[in-house]
Amino acid sequence: MRCPRCSHELTVFGGPSRRRPRALWWRCGDCEWLGCQWLGADSPLEELIRYEGEEAVCMWCGDEDFATFAGYRRTVVTLDDGRTGHRVLDVCLGCGRVGSWFDPLE
Ligand SMILES: [Zn+2]
Ligand SMILES: [Zn+2]
Repeated sequence: MRCPRCSHELTVFGGPSRRRPRALWWRCGDCEWLGCQWLGADSPLEELIRYEGEEAVCMWCGDEDFATFAGYRRTVVTLDDGRTGHRVLDVCLGCGRVGSWFDPLE
């Protein structure tokens, strides 16, 4: 697997476990690009962006390993009630828990 940003070879740094049975985390040793690949279906590699500072602290396990799916952050959606914003999908690279919520635009 090659890094989509710099073509360096990616390495897996977390595999399926009891707490995160469905995904692999990929990391580029060169440019620090991060990706997630769901197992099972023929799923593409999705870019993850690591949070920094306070936001990086996982709300579940307390590790500073919180990241967000870049594709969701970039996509604006409109809900049935007319609100627009981003559907946010966050993941903890430490404990593997995933959370999803809606972040409305101002
Ligand atoms: Zn890279
Ligand atoms: Zn966690």
